[in-house]
Amino acid sequence: MHNLLSTVAAISTPPGKGGVALIRISGPEAIPIADRVFSPKSGKRLADTEGNTAVYGMILDGGDVIDDGIATVFRAPHSYTGEDTVEISCHGGLLLTNTVLSAVLTAGALLADPGEFTERAFVSGRLTLTDAEGVMGAISAESRTEILLASKAARTRLDGALEALRRTLTEVMASQFAAIDFPDEDLASLTPKETAERLTAVRAEMERLLLTYRTGRAITEGVRTVIVGRPNVGKSSLYNRLAGEELAIVTDIPGTTRDLLSETVVLDRVKLRLSDTAGLRETADVVERIGVERTVSAMENAELVLAVFDSSQPLTDEDFDLVARLKGGHAVTVAVLNKADLPPCDMEKIRTAFPHVVSLSAKSGDISALSEKIDALFTSEELTPGQDAIIAGERQFSTLRRAKEFLAAAIDSITAGFPEDIVAGDIERAIGTLGEIDGRTVNEEIVSDIFRNFCVGK
Ligand code: GDP
Repeated sequence: MHNLLSTVAAISTPPGKGGVALIRISGPEAIPIADRVFSPKSGKRLADTEGNTAVYGMILDGGDVIDDGIATVFRAPHSYTGEDTVEISCHGGLLLTNTVLSAVLTAGALLADPGEFTERAFVSGRLTLTDAEGVMGAISAESRTEILLASKAARTRLDGALEALRRTLTEVMASQFAAIDFPDEDLASLTPKETAERLTAVRAEMERLLLTYRTGRAITEGVRTVIVGRPNVGKSSLYNRLAGEELAIVTDIPGTTRDLLSETVVLDRVKLRLSDTAGLRETADVVERIGVERTVSAMENAELVLAVFDSSQPLTDEDFDLVARLKGGHAVTVAVLNKADLPPCDMEKIRTAFPHVVSLSAKSGDISALSEKIDALFTSEELTPGQDAIIAGERQFSTLRRAKEFLAAAIDSITAGFPEDIVAGDIERAIGTLGEIDGRTVNEEIVSDIFRNFCVGK
């Protein structure tokens, strides 16, 4: 990120032809710089325009009028970044937009780094880190549930839940310090037993929040999934059906390409990262051998294995080999009894070997029982994305887990009867670590790591 005394600019809309494009300028000189490239039709300069006002005018580059458009003036602190900001909307041509940007840069702005507007918003206190991560999540969302999870309402819930934990910990810590500073005056409002109880309640809440990451992760990052089974049981058909269910949703949007999501399937809430396993292409011998190796390694890395069996045929040795191979694996396994449209054979052995069994016809039937099963296995029904506090990112999860460890140390210290300053020290570390989640106490390296993943213009 540039020095905050500088003014930065970037194109905030995606590159390409479109109706309009937006060039954002933010920083102390944003308005004077915009005045050099934008001439309002009213004749009144942007410098004399109130905040939150949009004006129509001409866009200038080196004395030429290159376009007409709208400049919206935001005055600090009432803008996305918290700084003076001007957003110029011009017509959305690739060259045109770049020409407007270069005029703005010539007029004195520096090219913004990726995520710099959001980073400035964080630095000026307009956004918390959880907010910033939510913005990034919303931009890269691949499902409606993910959009809800990244929404402002959801972020506020999470920040609120963390704030409540911090408040309790701060009270407990204050009581410990009172006992240290005024040992004779019995100022500590909490007995060691009460302190331990409060801390244990906070730890339970932290554990509850940590568990929400299972749901959050399944929604945002997705579940690494493989489809396995002997040849001809219907693995490809199932793959295509799963992908087809997804496409039925995304192709409502004209121009959405098939390739884009072919390996990511969004079920009701959960996203599956389907790996293109060898099971999908068993052909000649050599290929088959490589194929089997790939399947084995994909199975080892998977979190979900869909083991497909042909319920219209008697089970074979190959089927039993697969059952044996899957025993003792780490992944959640769902046995799929495929070809339910045909007269069934005895599948009792499969039903007893697997805790989760779904019967379906990949070719012609309804496969919603499988999506419902997967959703139930990877998300918690009690959590409503967009309404409940849900941990959605690995950074938030691991930071909260560290905070919980400090808290556990505090509980151990108090149970062991250690002096208050040791307990207070542990609590202080837990509070500090909690603060890293929303960014109250966070080092610059973490912050720049987060914003490096943003796109330019955001
Ligand atoms: P794979 O080798 O395991 O990938 O199996 P495929 O998906 O290529 O399917 C093998 C054959 O089974 C194909 O002829 C499919 O049309 C057929 N098949 C797949 N699923 C079903 C199903 O649910 N019902 C019926 N009747 N046939 C199916």
